[in-house]
Parts: sequence; C-alpha cells; structure tokens
Amino acid sequence: MFFVRPPFFIKIFFPYIICNFSRSDKKIYLTFDDGVNEKTTPFILENLKKFEVKASFFLIAKNVLKYPFLFEEIKKQGHQIGNHTFDHLDAWKTSNDIFIENIEKANKILKTKLFRPPYGRLKPSQIKFLSKKNYKIFYWDVLSGDYSNKLTKFKILENVINNTKNGSIIVRKKFFICNFKIKIIFLQKNEKNEKKIFHNKFSFNSF
Ligand SMILES: [Zn+2]
Repeated sequence: MFFVRPPFFIKIFFPYIICNFSRSDKKIYLTFDDGVNEKTTPFILENLKKFEVKASFFLIAKNVLKYPFLFEEIKKQGHQIGNHTFDHLDAWKTSNDIFIENIEKANKILKTKLFRPPYGRLKPSQIKFLSKKNYKIFYWDVLSGDYSNKLTKFKILENVINNTKNGSIIVRKKFFICNFKIKIIFLQKNEKNEKKIFHNKFSFNSF
C-alpha cells in the first residue's frame, strides 16, 4: 500500500515532529533523502539552480565521505543539509545506543541539527533523546512516491501536485533509482506545467 501522507498518529502523538510548516504562508519545502550520489546529485543540483529552487538534503554521511565534492556543492548552492544517519539505519531494528551513536557520527561530518530518520521510523525513546539533544526532526506531508517502481511518472507527479498545499514538506527519496522520474518531473513537466503550477502558487524554500 502506498501512503502519500505519513500516518496520522505521528502528528497526534509526537507533536514535536515537523510534518509541515505554516498553512498560511505560500511556501513549500522540497527535500531529498539518501544522497549524495554521483549519478543523480549533479543532475538535481543543476535543475534546482535552473529553476531557482532552494531545497533541503537529508544525507547519508557514509555517502558524503565518498563524494565530498558533491557535499560542498550542495552547501555552496545554498541548500540546507540534514542528517539521515551515517549508515541509513532502520531505527526499529537498531538498539538506541547504536542508533544514536550513528547519528552523532554522521553529525561530525554533516554538522546540522536537522534530522530525518531512514524509512521514517523512530521509537518514542529515540524521539525523546533526539529532542533533548536539540535535533529538529523532520518528516513530510507529501511523499512523492518516486522510489516506487509500481507508480508511473504521471502518478508521482499527480501525487505531488494534488497533495501540495501551503507549508508542505515534499520528500523525494532514493536518489539512485528515481533519476529518470525526477527528470520527468523537473524537465518535461516543469518547463511548462509544474513550474507554472508551483512557481505561481508557492515559493520554494529550504529549511
Ligand atoms: Zn532514506
């Protein structure tokens, strides 16, 4: 089953997890998870520049060590950096100590207090710990679904367009496999449709 939005209980039980920003401002927040990747990151950066869009990148620190020049390029272009752990650990399958240690290890490289858990999974005890350590935990309210091979590129675009409203945080996942789909959204649609739809209606912002 595919959920465009995160489960409703997250907002109710964990109010300090940020799923969206103010609904009264015409701002939206594009986020990318799982980079950096030598195949897709340059493409994404090039297009963000072209369309004058600032975004936020939740990076896997292990990948940053592999491609430090891409990490520098993201920062140089004025995008925001977020922590997505060092090894992309699944919090539900990892002890608290190891999970937290992995985040702190990543933070030595990424140097940010913005955090998004891999797979959107966190235990309440981990949420508590991260809040105490002043991490800001970001989820999303629009999941593009671009990581799914079951969704067509048009369905992905439709998901994004139909579900985005003021204050929305849009997430695009899996850099590695979504390149083609991102291309479709950014180039084919963006040239006329998406650029018009989004740029007339909202302004893109990084966190
Ligand atoms: Zn991830």
